[in-house]
Amino acid sequence: MFRRTILLALLVCVSLAAEIRTLTILHTNDVHARLMPLDNHNGGFAYLAAVIRRERAHCTDCILLNAGDLVQGTPVSTIFHGLPVYQIANLFDYSAATLGNHEFDYGWPQVRKFMDTAKYPMVTSNLVNAAGQLFTSKPYAILTVNKLRVAVIGAMTEDLNILSTPKLLEDWHTLPVVETVRKYAAELRSQADLIVLLAHITGPEEQRFLETVPEIPVTVSGHIHSGLAQAMSRDGRVLVRVKGYGEELGRLELKVDTEKKAPASWTWKRIPVDSTKVEPAADVAREVKRWEDEAAVFVDRPLAVSQRRFTKAEVKRMIEQALREETGADFAFMNLGGVRDVVPQGQLLERNIWNIMPFDNRVVVGTFKGRDLPAVVTGGRKVEPDRDYTLAVSDFTAANQSSDENLSATGLKFPNDVGLMRDLLLDWFRKKKVIGD
Ligand SMILES: [Zn+2]
Repeated sequence: MFRRTILLALLVCVSLAAEIRTLTILHTNDVHARLMPLDNHNGGFAYLAAVIRRERAHCTDCILLNAGDLVQGTPVSTIFHGLPVYQIANLFDYSAATLGNHEFDYGWPQVRKFMDTAKYPMVTSNLVNAAGQLFTSKPYAILTVNKLRVAVIGAMTEDLNILSTPKLLEDWHTLPVVETVRKYAAELRSQADLIVLLAHITGPEEQRFLETVPEIPVTVSGHIHSGLAQAMSRDGRVLVRVKGYGEELGRLELKVDTEKKAPASWTWKRIPVDSTKVEPAADVAREVKRWEDEAAVFVDRPLAVSQRRFTKAEVKRMIEQALREETGADFAFMNLGGVRDVVPQGQLLERNIWNIMPFDNRVVVGTFKGRDLPAVVTGGRKVEPDRDYTLAVSDFTAANQSSDENLSATGLKFPNDVGLMRDLLLDWFRKKKVIGD
């Protein structure tokens, strides 16, 4: 009897301590400076803001997170080095965000400006310099919502070094992402009711977190631009990611067990941002127009006419042709991941080239013996092993030449810088006038 009383008392104690509280996480990733709706009418900052505000209205347990790559991809971003995008995104009222690899496209000092501009904490736990100092002021943020302490740990893909260049990063580099996040999760266990990983990571890294890190019950991810059809889950843990370019807003509704510090249950949905169906947020629309008008002066000039639509793979070959013809090089190589848009059919504006090549990549040329030319460059064309050949690539490819996406080669030197790739492409299209087969 006595024993049973103790047992009962214990049960009462446990049930008093354990509580279920709700939390709603709204989230975006890879918005990539798409201030205006896409050709498919989805997205646009004013429409995304309207959807965010609608979802947040009367919500007492909502937070809004961004999983990186807010900038890069449109003329406003390229011309003004991303800063207007951060200014306008403040109107979304994010609760916290992490950095993406493309935040570094304008050099790391510019990312400091992004962090100064953002009116919300930016956290990346595994980005440090040679002295071991963290790039962001904190590795995580603790948000309080609906009487829950939610610790948001930021993380960056370990691929950062091959997705950027030494010139842009200098000595900033990633620490092993899983191990670093685990360390902070252990530290946060007593300070938070729920740990959320906000990560800009690759598919394999997402899998590693989900499958091997029980300390992380919830992950909001970014970097891959395609949204998940369904949330990924494993042993009660959940990972979500929406489509990039502001086409979707994610809404993850959690019932959090405050004793287990894990979701007791959850539901997730992807909310489309359809510019034909929502009223734009007027304050955001005003800012978007102001910056788009500024950029239009630079980019809305007729350039050439395209007789058909060219896919990204075709544009890659088109760029290689342009590099050869503009530089006189024997060979040229363009990495497919660096081709950011298609060539549409019809009248092309300079804007189209900015969309294809938003990066300020430079064209560099080197001279190599036939035997030293990477196979991906010669593409089966016969070369004489002892003859000298010239090869034109982007400085990004030169810096990351060893990766599969580039040359799978090492030690190739490209001493001759012939200028900005976008300028070279504009010049080539302008001279061609008509782009056919
Ligand atoms: Zn990314």
